[in-house]
Amino acid sequence: MPAGPGPHPGRRDPPVPRTGLRSPLPPYGPESVPLPRPGTMAVMTTRSCPCGRPEAYADCCRRYHSGAAAAPTAEALMRSRYSAFVTGDAAYLLRTWHPRTRPARLDLDPRMRWTGLEILDATDGSAFHTSGTVTFRASYRGGSLLERSWFERDGGAWVYVDGEFPEEP
Ligand SMILES: [Zn+2]
Repeated sequence: MPAGPGPHPGRRDPPVPRTGLRSPLPPYGPESVPLPRPGTMAVMTTRSCPCGRPEAYADCCRRYHSGAAAAPTAEALMRSRYSAFVTGDAAYLLRTWHPRTRPARLDLDPRMRWTGLEILDATDGSAFHTSGTVTFRASYRGGSLLERSWFERDGGAWVYVDGEFPEEP
C-alpha cells in the first residue's frame, strides 16, 4: 500500500462521523500516522499550546497527553483532543473516547494542518457535572470545522462521546 500523500481515488466512503474533530477531507487513509518521537515535541515547549492557551504545551495539554493529569473539565478535554490532532496523538484520542462510541482504530490524515481552535460555547462539563457540551470551531489550512461535541465522565474522567455539525450561522 503506497503511503505517500495524494488522492486515494478508490475510497469514496461517507465521512467518518464522531471523530471529535471530523476530518473535512475524505476519510482517514490507511496510512498510519507516526507518533511523534521523543524529542520532536521539544520545539513545542517554546511557544503557546496548540489548543490556543497562552501556556506552553508542556504546561498545558502535554500533561493530559502523557497521562500525568486528567482534563478537569469537558472544555479542557476538548482542547487537549484538539492538541492531540495537531500532534498526531491518535492513542490519546482513542483513550479519551467513550467506549460506547470509540472506533476500533483511528488513522489521522497527515495532510491535515490544523491552524487554530476557538471555543464558542460550553455548557456544564465542570468539576460538578457528569456531562457537558463544547461548541468550537477548529481551523485548518483551507477551511474550518464547526462542531458541537458531547462529553461524559467515564470512570471519573472526561471522555468524548459524540458530535454534531451545526450549520455555519
Ligand atoms: Zn493546551
